[in-house]
Amino acid sequence: MAETLEKGTISIHTENIFPIIKKFLYSDHEIFLRELVSNAVDATQKLKKLASLGEFNGELGDLTIEVSFDKDKKTITVSDKGIGMTADEVKKYINQIAFSGAAEFVEKFKDKADGKDIIGKFGLGFYSSFMVADKVEIISRSFKAAEHEAARWECDGSTEFSLSAASKAARGTDVILYINQESEEFLDEWRIKGILEKYCKFLPVPIKFGTKDESVEDGTDAEGKPKFKTEKKDRIINNPEPLWTKSPNELKDEDYLKFYKELYPFSEDPLFWIHLNVDYPFTLTGVLYFPKVKNDFEVNKNKIQLYSRQVFITDEVKDVVPDFLMLLHGVLDSPDIPLNVSRSYLQSDANVKKISQHITKKVGDKLQELFKKDRKDFEKKWNDISIFVKYGMISDEKFYDRAKEFAMFRNVDDQHFTFEEYKEKVKPTQTDKDENLTYLYASDKGKQHAFIEAAKNKSYDVLLFDGVLDSHFINTLEQKLEKTQFKRVDSDTADKLIVKDEKVESVLSKDDEQAVKSIFEKAINNKSMTVSIEAMAPQDLPVFITMSEFMRRMKDMAKVGGGGAYGFMGNMPDAYNVSINGNHPIIQKILSAADEDQKSRLAKQAYDLALLSQNMLTGQDLTNFIKRSVDLVS
Ligand code: ADP
Repeated sequence: MAETLEKGTISIHTENIFPIIKKFLYSDHEIFLRELVSNAVDATQKLKKLASLGEFNGELGDLTIEVSFDKDKKTITVSDKGIGMTADEVKKYINQIAFSGAAEFVEKFKDKADGKDIIGKFGLGFYSSFMVADKVEIISRSFKAAEHEAARWECDGSTEFSLSAASKAARGTDVILYINQESEEFLDEWRIKGILEKYCKFLPVPIKFGTKDESVEDGTDAEGKPKFKTEKKDRIINNPEPLWTKSPNELKDEDYLKFYKELYPFSEDPLFWIHLNVDYPFTLTGVLYFPKVKNDFEVNKNKIQLYSRQVFITDEVKDVVPDFLMLLHGVLDSPDIPLNVSRSYLQSDANVKKISQHITKKVGDKLQELFKKDRKDFEKKWNDISIFVKYGMISDEKFYDRAKEFAMFRNVDDQHFTFEEYKEKVKPTQTDKDENLTYLYASDKGKQHAFIEAAKNKSYDVLLFDGVLDSHFINTLEQKLEKTQFKRVDSDTADKLIVKDEKVESVLSKDDEQAVKSIFEKAINNKSMTVSIEAMAPQDLPVFITMSEFMRRMKDMAKVGGGGAYGFMGNMPDAYNVSINGNHPIIQKILSAADEDQKSRLAKQAYDLALLSQNMLTGQDLTNFIKRSVDLVS
């Protein structure tokens, strides 16, 4: 055994940092491996840098970092072939920097409740190894040291350490953790592999962990067919040159798609992507993919991974990425995102704000470019991307201003229009007597079919708004578009949807109207149905059942949990308007029917037909309707 050169006490101001940090780190113990491997990568990169500067003239050799474990000895070892440290450097870097870094951390966060949240992102560096180890040993041979001359440092996490001379054949550093009892879960191949794959998947130096079986050709059999044998090969955990670190102009579409599969093996191909590459005033690289979004928002969130110099940090990118782009997939890599601070600080950080704005701008540029380049193709993609665009327009003023140039309105016949085009299209027919534009929309092509047809008969156009965000989107549009209101096509009869001066003449006298009204009221016999007689085109349906736009919106809001007035409206019974088309031939038939009973049957039949066309006829009422219909036709 080598003689101990030195025993000493590490001088730091905070006593007993160990238990405090241990408490903090409780949920995030696994990051020790990320920290140690990152240090190994740094040491390797430093050596490469020295070589490129001509300050290291030796053989670089294979620089692969190796992670290994020994279940019996209860150790995990991280070995690199980087610059290494002399005994003096160990004292300086480990005793001073590593320990004072940890002490500083404790000073900063010991009283903060959110310490737990951020610690994983902060990273305690080398010191975090004491979370899982009773004892840590470093054996390091500096690139400057004579052959085999190495330093051994040992510490149990207290402020006592020992330093001695050691012999080591290879250049670089071995960090050996003697895993403590509570952390024995880490002495497991799949656990270690999982952690490495999570945090180290794209680190820039190859990382080996164990071996894997690979099938290789081994001559031919008697029939001349190739034979195979299994060979043990190094298992390399990472892809040291991930796509986002390359220059966009050396990449093809296939490369982006392949990388997408690497990130999300089970996802459908993305629609398109944006390669981010900024180096001033902040550094940001990354690739953001537009996925095919299913309607379920939450499933799709948290798919963007945040890296700092290729080290995985988190997949919670809230605050860094604007909310509406949280549905995107991909990776962001920035050393300028401060990870060592609390959430509230992150939100107000100038760099983070700039990064978020930059991403928004890039997304706007990309969409604009796609729109300009190939309008037809853009329309095809619209269905899938509209969710981002609408979300963005609702939540971000600046993005609204960009997107209003290329955002599309889609009508029930699947035609697409820009906002400007649509305005020009409907202006002649859908301007009301006060010079306001009314945009009509359907939320369900099937259920509202009769109303859509009635609106079309009046030469109106009907948009389709059937997405999860559309009611919010409509609110935004009403605030933004001048003198424009939106009305769902079943909120009124076609004649009254857009109030104009022109009036269809009624064929009924005032007395007839009164008579028809009371026949219907009796036949319907339901207080929440308000009957009125209107003059419509004879070819329109005899009866329409509508709920006013105002009432319906209030009810919708109440459903999604708006309090106050919305809650009140939500408790109101559904109130509908029953509009009788006084000009429909059936009204004359009702008026001239033989007796009260006959009149009532016909009125009920016409009313039930309206309910039926809106999917509102069910149960006993439906059965009665069918019976009555059979009677009427037989
Ligand atoms: P940080 O890496 O954030 O500087 P650490 O506590 O992880 O903090 O490490 C302290 C210092 O110890 C590093 O800055 C580095 O100089 C040195 N060090 C740690 N690990 C290694 C290693 N594997 N090879 C060479 N030097 C190392």
